Amino acid sequence: MRVVMKFGGGILADAACYARVADVVKQKVTEPWGGDEFVAVVSAAKGVTDRLIAAAKDACKNKGGIAPFLEQLEAEHREMLSLVQSAEHRATAEEQLNRKFERVLHAMTEIADAGQMSPADEDFVDSYGERLSNVVLCAYLRDRDLKSEALDAEDIGMVTNGRFGNALPILPQVRRNLEELVEPGVEDGLIPVITGYYGTNVRGEVTTFGRGGSDYSAAILAACLDADVLEVWKDVEGFMTANPKAVGEDKARKIDRLTYDEAEELSYFGAEILHPRTIDPLRQQQIHCVVKDIRHPEASGTVISEEADQYALVIKSIAVKRGIALITVRGQRPADAPGFAADVFQTMADAHVSIDAIATSQTDISFTINASHLPRACEALEKMEQELVREWYHNDGMALVGVVGTGMRGTPGINWRVFKAVGTAEPPINVEMICQGGSEINISFVVKEDRVQECLKVVHAELFKNEGR
Ligand code: ASP
Ligand code: MG
Repeated sequence: MRVVMKFGGGILADAACYARVADVVKQKVTEPWGGDEFVAVVSAAKGVTDRLIAAAKDACKNKGGIAPFLEQLEAEHREMLSLVQSAEHRATAEEQLNRKFERVLHAMTEIADAGQMSPADEDFVDSYGERLSNVVLCAYLRDRDLKSEALDAEDIGMVTNGRFGNALPILPQVRRNLEELVEPGVEDGLIPVITGYYGTNVRGEVTTFGRGGSDYSAAILAACLDADVLEVWKDVEGFMTANPKAVGEDKARKIDRLTYDEAEELSYFGAEILHPRTIDPLRQQQIHCVVKDIRHPEASGTVISEEADQYALVIKSIAVKRGIALITVRGQRPADAPGFAADVFQTMADAHVSIDAIATSQTDISFTINASHLPRACEALEKMEQELVREWYHNDGMALVGVVGTGMRGTPGINWRVFKAVGTAEPPINVEMICQGGSEINISFVVKEDRVQECLKVVHAELFKNEGR
């Protein structure tokens, strides 16, 4: 069995964290049922990507700040190696870190000298968190007598299209490269520790997969290496019926099984467990994904696969996307003239505005977008205004609530229960828009952001009333 194990930045905060992760890997390698081939994928250590992004931006204006920043970061990474027992493994890792720090210093100095930063420069600097993290974990694995190597995305041929900050892998090529550069070692018992978050385009420039993209890297690797399982290790029990911080630690419960569709819906809705793109490569090859809790490695976590759990609840989880804007547009032409929807959505697409939920009446089209796209959307609509749009308005400060579960397909009464609950809040919460897709896997609706926490509580209480711990 081939297992890809992904370790998130949230569980890689200091030396003890890396040691813990290495213990978990060692344990799995030793267990007869743990698997026999392993690939590790890492995020940057906790908070490091945020700091690199800020430092890269700062480099243009503040050359003097670069060296102290990198010295501090290097000291922290050396400290992360402090629990490696073997002096030899520690020295090798320090040497590798050193070389990497030299390269990023060079890159940041060039940015400072140029007084500006290209998207390629930015992605290059941003990728360093992962490049430092894999060195640290590798040292801990070697320290436990595991054969391991720290590999950067360049070393394994993680090729992408050229989009900076939002790249996509070129899968057939990645697969061929992995066959040549990674498979032989893995078959030989080596555990590569591979950087998540980025790849390189055909020109060899670093292109990241966007924030949180290490999960996606791990899924690509699992798919292209024909792994049996992708384990995503975090410090949560798994997917939950709702965010415990919002509905109460004693109310939310862990979900044992999700289908790919459910996990994907929840991730796009902002359940901060997996990067939303993670599921697709796995689904195509029916690779199981297991969200595992580093605090309780023996616990079963949440298993994501094609099969629905026949004993499971109709509704699996409720998720919330905050920071939403709701736009409503009315056309100039008669409401039944064809093409208005196409015009509106083409305009949004041209303005690179991504749309979440859509609802229409006979005369209007309403849709939600991320509020950060609102200026672009407004500008585009203003241009449309004269000929095509009679009027339009927008409200920001909204939140999109998603109730997800394949079991609601064909189960009557779910909508009634959801909106009955919303209506019982005091004062009642106004629902601004409602959508239910034809697949009946989710119901989503828009409420004001300042009421969403309450809304989540009442809907969760209604839907999971017999399910508390
Ligand atoms: N380190 C990157 C980030 O913070 C990628 C990841 O952790 O998934 O966004
Ligand atoms: Mg993450």
